[in-house]
Amino acid sequence: MEMGELLARRLSRIEASDIREILKLTEGRQVISLAGGLPDPRVFPREELAEITREIIEERGEAALQYSPTRGVTAFLEVLRGFLAQRGVRVAGDDGLLVATGSQEALFLAGLALVNPGDIVVVEKPTYLAAVNVFRFFQARLVPVRLDEEGMDTVELERVLREAEERGERVKMVYTVPTAQNPSGVSMSMERRRHLMELASAYDLLVIEDDPYSYFMFEETDFTFLKTLDTEGRVLYLGTSSKILTPGLRLGWAVGPEPIIAAMETAKQTVDLHSSTLSQFIAMEAMKRGIVDRTARRAREIYREKRDAMLEEMEAHFPRGTRWTRPVGGFFSFVYLPEGMDAKEMLPEAVEKYQVAYVPGYSFYVDGTGRNTMRLSFSFPPVDVLREGVRRLARFLQDKMK
Ligand SMILES: *Cc1c(COP(=O)(O)O)cnc(C)c1O
Repeated sequence: MEMGELLARRLSRIEASDIREILKLTEGRQVISLAGGLPDPRVFPREELAEITREIIEERGEAALQYSPTRGVTAFLEVLRGFLAQRGVRVAGDDGLLVATGSQEALFLAGLALVNPGDIVVVEKPTYLAAVNVFRFFQARLVPVRLDEEGMDTVELERVLREAEERGERVKMVYTVPTAQNPSGVSMSMERRRHLMELASAYDLLVIEDDPYSYFMFEETDFTFLKTLDTEGRVLYLGTSSKILTPGLRLGWAVGPEPIIAAMETAKQTVDLHSSTLSQFIAMEAMKRGIVDRTARRAREIYREKRDAMLEEMEAHFPRGTRWTRPVGGFFSFVYLPEGMDAKEMLPEAVEKYQVAYVPGYSFYVDGTGRNTMRLSFSFPPVDVLREGVRRLARFLQDKMK
């Protein structure tokens, strides 16, 4: 059978990541990877999870091992509302709440529910690759807006919106990671958050606020969620247990206008009926018993130490002419090399000769630019390995820039 003809055409819109191919080279070698964004397993509260899982299965197994509602386990939805309220995410009385299989599924459901081919979606430049792939899958037209140390440049956003309007086009939504962004680690300033919401109101936009990292910021930062600033029902907020508990539970959540959540629920029925009942019971207990709070505090300590180690090595060893972001949270720093350098072309040499890997930054740019950038992750390697990895990369860059 001719497999090319067999496969549905829609998948061809998603590029298989060529980075994965390069990273395969790292397997089984002494390569230090600053590429992936895996959580540090030291953060996982394994003993406590083992204990509550046993308890749940023994004492409430009839419900916890059973099918459950598409929206989510009713008791978990209640606990989740409290959890979000405690963190300052405003859940309005008429907001809907949906549990998803990771926030990735929530994004996919939002795509299913909201994006028609040709719809214009604004994203940050750089932005989160897995979100880009969802929007591409649904044939959105992606428009990038630049980002700096204060997050998305809302003045440029305003220009993009105005120009679209002048062409008789309408921007449908903005996707943003406003707090400790992936891949840059920066947060959007309060001024820009307010400006973004004003623009959303003036241009009738939906805003998707993707928030995996706000639960463990490295410094006391004063910010308000877009969801909380929103008074007009324009924000769809996505959260996840992946970085504050474990990604293996595959649990995320979406909060937003009830008609959108209802459409996502309908879509979810066809995708997976519901997210793992058992995972929801586990996460619910972990929230109730303060395990999530303790894990988030631990995550903050562990990742802050690693961020500091990475920044220290970069400051000491990276060559003049390079610059990088100072992450206020999350897993990543974003590096800018001098114009003309090509981090993608350089990667095989970094892996083979210097035994260090990173993700070329162009993948996070939807307009094909960003060739001179790279994303470095500090989340996974132990501190000493991380330091050595950054020093190897520094030597590589020094040699390339001689
Ligand atoms: C890690 C991360 C997520 C989490 O995705 P899950 O599917 O919930 O594991 C979502 N968005 C961004 C920007 C991330 O970095």
